[in-house]
Amino acid sequence: MKIEGKRVVVCGAGGFIGGHLVKSLQARSASKIRAVDVKPIEEWYQKADGVENLSLDLQDKHNCYLATEGVDAVFQLAADMGGMGFIENNRALCMLSVLVNTHMLMAARDQGVERFFYSSSACVYNGDKQKNPDVVPLKEQDAYPALPEDGYGWEKLFSERMCRHFEEDFGLQCRVARFHNVYGPYGTWNGGREKAPAAICRKVIEAKHSGNHQIEIWGDGHQTRSFMYIDDCIKGIEAIFQGEIHEPINLGSSELVTINQLVDVVEECANIRLKRNYMLSAPKGVNGRNSDNTKIKEYLGWEPAIRLKDGIAKTYEWIERQMLVPAAK
Ligand code: NAD
Repeated sequence: MKIEGKRVVVCGAGGFIGGHLVKSLQARSASKIRAVDVKPIEEWYQKADGVENLSLDLQDKHNCYLATEGVDAVFQLAADMGGMGFIENNRALCMLSVLVNTHMLMAARDQGVERFFYSSSACVYNGDKQKNPDVVPLKEQDAYPALPEDGYGWEKLFSERMCRHFEEDFGLQCRVARFHNVYGPYGTWNGGREKAPAAICRKVIEAKHSGNHQIEIWGDGHQTRSFMYIDDCIKGIEAIFQGEIHEPINLGSSELVTINQLVDVVEECANIRLKRNYMLSAPKGVNGRNSDNTKIKEYLGWEPAIRLKDGIAKTYEWIERQMLVPAAK
């Protein structure tokens, strides 16, 4: 199914990835775009002109019917989420996103939506396979037997399966991508929901401008991760949406780094070296995680490829602007 000429709704459009997706769908000439988020419109990270922007709580079933009225396709990205600090301390809130997914799937089915994209997460993967920083990259089948991240990961895994059964039982075409750590401009960088790349950029900028050349790092810095720049994420969402991949698929970079190496990259942007203080009792997530991209390469002949140092340079610059000139966008 081509995006061009379609009537689409983006749920979670006031957030980081949703905001970028709306802009990209506009550039690809989707014929009508509705953008929905629970936040008041003035708090959205990006607000596109020429789009129907609605502030609606999609946990409410009635609002999901309003959101899906007259659309061909749904991009469901709305979720209560954040970095490890947020998801480890707000498991019930994370699980309540199941209301959004349930009601959006029901509304999409009842209103004859042709295709439903769902944003799942690498947090669905079995924790036992992520104990060692020296990782074996996660393949799609490693989500089972199920032992996902408590709260947030369980909800994502359950909602993935709802997508699968809505396709099997009701014929609603579903596409599911498991995002691995996405970062970039116009995302959360403070307030407690930010993820590691934005948090580290902010801390390095604070240290640089305050003259207090120290940084707090959650964990021992040896945890490994991969980080995907937002432009790769949007390209992947659109390709997976348009394609014929009927089961959940990894959408992540396979450039593995330790958190210490991520700090190195940010320090290079700032042209500074900081004393590192490790917070061993802070939330740090699994010890190691990387994306096995065999399947996405096989289906799409492509994988996320923007280098961490290039993506971080743009993210650092954007966050620095937000911090130095708070009204700047
Ligand atoms: P985000 O928090 O910036 O955006 C999510 C948006 O959903 C927010 O603007 C929020 O207000 C909105 N929302 C929450 N509850 C809602 C409700 N009841 N009704 C309407 N809107 C609601 O997060 P993001 O980074 O843009 O993530 C988008 C999606 O991708 C989420 O589903 C997230 O779980 C998934 N994901 C993101 C990452 C990542 O690294 N950013 C990784 C894995 C999965």
